Amino acid sequence: TFCLLAFGTLNAQKKAYLDKSKPTEERIDLLMKQMTIEEKVGQMNQYNGFWEVTGPAPKGGNAEVKYEHLRKGWVGSMLNVRGVKEVRAVQKIAVEETRLGIPLIIGFDVIHGYKTLSPIPLAESASWDMEAIKKSAQIAADEASAVGINWTFAPMIDIYRDARWGRVMEGAGEDPYLGSKIAIARVKGFQGETKADLLKVNTIAACAKHFAAYGFAEAGRDYNTVDISNSTLYNTVLPPFKAATDAGIRTFMNSFNILNGVPATGSSFLQRDILKGNWKFDGFVVTDWGSIREMIVHGYAKDGAEASERAVNAGSDMDMESSLYVAELVKLVQEGKVKETLIDDAVRRILRVKFELGLFDDPYKYCDEKREKAIVGSKANNDGVLDMAKKSIVLLKNDKNLLPLKKSGQKIALIGALANDKNSPLGSWRIAADDNTAVSVLEGMQQYKGNQLTFEKGADLTIGKTSFTNEVVLNTTDKSGFEAAKKVAANADVVVMVLGEVGFQTGEGRSRSNLDLPGLQQELLEEIYKVNPNIVLVLNNGRPLALPWAAKNIPTIVEAWHLGTQAGNAVAQVLYGDYNPSGKLPMSFPRNVGQCPIYYNNYSTGRPGNSDTNVFWSHYTDVEKTPQFPFGFGLSYTTFDYKNLKINKTAFAKGEPVTVSVEVTNSGNYDGKEVVQLYIHDEFGSLARPVKELKGFELIELKKGETKTVSFTLTDKELGFYNNDGNYLVEPGTFKIMVGGSSDKGLESGFELK
Ligand code: BGC
Repeated sequence: TFCLLAFGTLNAQKKAYLDKSKPTEERIDLLMKQMTIEEKVGQMNQYNGFWEVTGPAPKGGNAEVKYEHLRKGWVGSMLNVRGVKEVRAVQKIAVEETRLGIPLIIGFDVIHGYKTLSPIPLAESASWDMEAIKKSAQIAADEASAVGINWTFAPMIDIYRDARWGRVMEGAGEDPYLGSKIAIARVKGFQGETKADLLKVNTIAACAKHFAAYGFAEAGRDYNTVDISNSTLYNTVLPPFKAATDAGIRTFMNSFNILNGVPATGSSFLQRDILKGNWKFDGFVVTDWGSIREMIVHGYAKDGAEASERAVNAGSDMDMESSLYVAELVKLVQEGKVKETLIDDAVRRILRVKFELGLFDDPYKYCDEKREKAIVGSKANNDGVLDMAKKSIVLLKNDKNLLPLKKSGQKIALIGALANDKNSPLGSWRIAADDNTAVSVLEGMQQYKGNQLTFEKGADLTIGKTSFTNEVVLNTTDKSGFEAAKKVAANADVVVMVLGEVGFQTGEGRSRSNLDLPGLQQELLEEIYKVNPNIVLVLNNGRPLALPWAAKNIPTIVEAWHLGTQAGNAVAQVLYGDYNPSGKLPMSFPRNVGQCPIYYNNYSTGRPGNSDTNVFWSHYTDVEKTPQFPFGFGLSYTTFDYKNLKINKTAFAKGEPVTVSVEVTNSGNYDGKEVVQLYIHDEFGSLARPVKELKGFELIELKKGETKTVSFTLTDKELGFYNNDGNYLVEPGTFKIMVGGSSDKGLESGFELK
């Protein structure tokens, strides 16, 4: 009896970390005391979902090794495990077969939805609607958490300025202020408002990626070298990451690129000094896919052991799929090359997030077929992504007022392979969604029955699937469909042409050196224009395109991105005026690819010039230096007038809030929404400051004829900047401000900061 009792007490002690009433940090202590060094390192190891877990155990090769590791408790996390059954199966091994039964944290790239897809993140960002963006992330979390996932590798909050980069589709655009607000909205959407919300079954841990500067790949070629100034790092790249940290994000992912010769994965400066030091981030950092091993290829480590040593010393807590930590770390600790305290710190961080998610309380809480059935693809989620899709559309041109279309009595020709495409609107990064599940534009428009609608594709747009990076538009020579398209166009009152990029022309590894319409589309556009110039061009794309001919000749242009599952319904509702577009570009659209990188918050040159004909001003000899469509730009079916821009005083003491107000009137014929934008320019400083910086915006709704006063408050948070050592300065000086509906024009005023 005594033995049994003693054993019982011992066992209870061992399991004391399961006691929910204890504070998290104490529970972590209780658990860590029992962990061997191998088990600790195991928590730092993440494997890809490498076999059908519910099937027979794998035999031979890597899979067998990984399976054995899982059963020994040498795996702390898995990614890409598909479906509730599979997740339950791996979790069961972790919880029931390993010595300590520590549950896995299950990661997945839930980038713009799980199965019911929202627009690509860049498109969503064009809404400038933080509530809608948050809601969209909530829908994604809701679906993902119902199939076993409790951690998403999103949001991507890299700032970037080069449309050639394939991953622009995945972020919030070029501006750090807008990017920070969107980062916060997405973090709260995935995780909930507070840390306590993580315990709910429909929230998941978010991951700020890619830390850092991955968006500045030279020439927009994915994975390329990054070479940026300290000023760009501190003022442009880091702010969204800081904002996500302050919003309580629980994980970070580092990046593939080098910065000042050091791969981000091996950067103590980024991960220890800035993130965990200055910002006091207490979640964990996962590496990007295999990036520890890539440090060898970068020439920063001679072998796997050295790469692991450098990564862990630099603060990379979890190894995604390189298998190096599990192979090397125990030995490195034994040899004294890595301090066990650093391992403990990493493990503590990982366990902390697992406790916060409630995984120790119920490891199977996210595996619920009933929830899966009720939630994935539900009507409510489809309504939600439709709402987001409408809000993401940007009206770029409407010169002849071809839009909105009349609801009856018109003959409409719908042209372009993308109009009938149910796959491309899903965009890139939609691992779990089934192919061809988007509503096409054709299907969307067919619901409006008052008009005569005729569809012709004109030319095919098929994608070659030769390899991951080698996807290109094929069938570029078959023009046999041109004649039929021209015929319906000639016979129509209005031609709607849906042109752009197929879904997988953007995304990871999909950089382009051209920003034109791929394949035969440009030629088709020009041919149709000859027979009927009343063209509404609807763009489907994952990045800014450079379309100088269309911008000049085509009267109406609608930026409809890759809008997700409900794309066609959203486009149709906008074209027919059931939804008045209010999106604004989160990224500058260049006139040609040679202008890249192009962005609105550039510095002044010593020769900014006011005449592009003078050879001694900074300009191009063959194209204007301004973008085709600037950051912040977007039209509506109605018009907005700005007047009475006021600043409450002319001079302010440091720390005193500056209040700016402006009156906005809906002066057109439709009710509508407008994004009122405030830009500042710090005229002189100890360092040169950009010509313009967004420091406030508000999305307002105005009935036709209605006027609203919009106010902004500027504080030290908006008026300062980081110097080259990363210190935040607020300097006395004069500030210009501009308020308007785009970055390129607005009402101007100014004030002095004493
Ligand atoms: C990407 C990450 C992604 C990871 C896992 C990497 O190649 O850069 O953004 O989360 O793969 O799929």
